[in-house]
Amino acid sequence: PTPLGPTPKLVIDLERMQQLPQEKAGPLSRYVATIQSQRGDYNGRVLSIRQEDLRSLAVIYDKSPSDLTEELINWGVLDPEARRAVDAF
Ligand code: C2E
Ligand code: C2E
Ligand code: C2E
Repeated sequence: PTPLGPTPKLVIDLERMQQLPQEKAGPLSRYVATIQSQRGDYNGRVLSIRQEDLRSLAVIYDKSPSDLTEELINWGVLDPEARRAVDAF
């Protein structure tokens, strides 16, 4: 246990994602749409994703998981807290 508490969840801000240009958010949007469809979870303002899914997304974006996390934080799609989730990889 650390003073910072448990590993934070990776929570995608769906409203923010929809405001991004397609060339940035396209692959993320398609991935998220697949998860929503598999869960039947269409009505949220946010979507919690698996750590494993961030690894898959990093492959899709041709980045390391930590570089993709920084990008998603810059876009405003992930909270800066998400850094700690990825450090735990
Ligand atoms: P699955 O992986 O066999 O999971 C079956 C059910 O177990 C899920 O049904 C959900 O009710 C529960 N479950 C599994 N892992 C978790 C978890 O970490 N947290 C919570 N709260 N529940 C969990 P659900 O949600 O209807 O999903 C159906 C299937 O859709 C899943 O089968 C999986 O194949 C896929 N899926 C759903 N969400 C995700 C996701 O975030 N990432 C990935 N890669 N697949 C997902
Ligand atoms: P939390 O995980 O911190 O999520 C807070 C709120 O964010 C949720 O309130 C919900 O409105 C939204 N949210 C987070 N992830 C998702 C997502 O993947 N899809 C959608 N549609 N909304 C999401 P809510 O539903 O009142 O849940 C409050 C708390 O109850 C959650 O806090 C979590 O700690 C727990 N919880 C709710 N559902 C589940 C679940 O299926 N599995 C587990 N393990 N905990 C759950
Ligand atoms: P959560 O539901 O609070 O689950 C936190 C962690 O507990 C998950 O991190 C996973 O390591 C473990 N866990 C919870 N339920 C299960 C399960 O049924 N099977 C397995 N093998 N592990 C489980 P993870 O995978 O990084 O997921 C993070 C969050 O993403 C989950 O938080 C939940 O909010 C969401 N999520 C992931 N998969 C699913 C899913 O299949 N369905 C739904 N509805 N939500 C999911």
